[in-house]
Amino acid sequence: MHNVVIIGSGCAGLTAAIYAGRASLKPLVIDGHEPGGQLTLTTTVENFPGFPDGILGPDLTDNMRKQAQKFGAEFKSGAVTAVDLSKRPFRVTAGEATYETQTLIVAAGASARLLGLESERKLMGHGVSTCATCDGFFFRGKPIAVVGGGDSAMEEANFLTRYASKVYLVHRRNEFRASKIMSERVQANPKIELVTPVVVEEILSGEGGVTGMRLKNAKTGALSEVQVDGVFVSIGHEPNTKPFRGQLDMDANGYLIAKNGSSHTNVPGVFVAGDVHDSRYRQAITAAGSGCKAAIDAEKFLEEHSH
Ligand code: NAP
Repeated sequence: MHNVVIIGSGCAGLTAAIYAGRASLKPLVIDGHEPGGQLTLTTTVENFPGFPDGILGPDLTDNMRKQAQKFGAEFKSGAVTAVDLSKRPFRVTAGEATYETQTLIVAAGASARLLGLESERKLMGHGVSTCATCDGFFFRGKPIAVVGGGDSAMEEANFLTRYASKVYLVHRRNEFRASKIMSERVQANPKIELVTPVVVEEILSGEGGVTGMRLKNAKTGALSEVQVDGVFVSIGHEPNTKPFRGQLDMDANGYLIAKNGSSHTNVPGVFVAGDVHDSRYRQAITAAGSGCKAAIDAEKFLEEHSH
């Protein structure tokens, strides 16, 4: 029987583990299908407070993990496939193992949707990014592309014109899913060129990283190339909430709902942290902050229920 099981080992889960560990709760962290979370997909993180020279994303999560272990957190690898939250103790199944716990912190994160190209996977963090706020700064004075036609793609294309010499907005249809105001803003921006209706066939690279993209016209099949130093894939995120469907309250996009700015969910004793309930900020530091809140809420809950 565990006091606290934490699902997910990104910034949110690891921060929750540090706080719960330090409160002598001996948390158990179930790593998830992407141990270390989205930070493992990036290179230098320059906006996490406390690292004036920046820190590599994987190093930051490694440090957090060591810090959690120092305070007694235990780690198990594997992804959670099922939970039973109908009564306490809750039951959490990952692979062959089932764990019982008095409280649960869900920090399962969200995964950026990807195009599914081998080159995209290989160049992730080396010219390919899923986060403009995190990586835009590295492309000062360089041409880049944003892939997608939703509000995120529009927002990121606009944002990236602060740094890039030119931004190609590459989308598979001529129509945009994004709101009118966001699309109009993009169309009015002289630094942005729309490239539609095209599908990304390949991300091209040389020794220094990304050099361009090969595109295929979705209507005519004609092939073309654009030369860019960076590709921002902005085709949406999927919160990792499948095992919680029907048990925890979610919004229309599948993100978990926390009550009144706390980490409490609709099930007493189940708390939420990080991108799994945040489609707005999605930053390492906000995820870490919410992990702290969830651990404090879990500790309080255990105290009140005298465990
Ligand atoms: P989204 O609305 O789901 O849009 C995803 C975009 O990516 C669509 O244009 C889609 O094309 C394209 N796409 C999906 N899979 C693709 C693939 N395999 N290959 C190529 N293109 C692909 O996602 P989002 O833009 O991240 O927005 C998510 C939610 O957050 C939305 O409700 C949005 O309004 C909201 N949001 C709001 C703001 C704001 O108001 N400031 C900012 C950001 C996000 P198709 O259109 O052809 O399907």
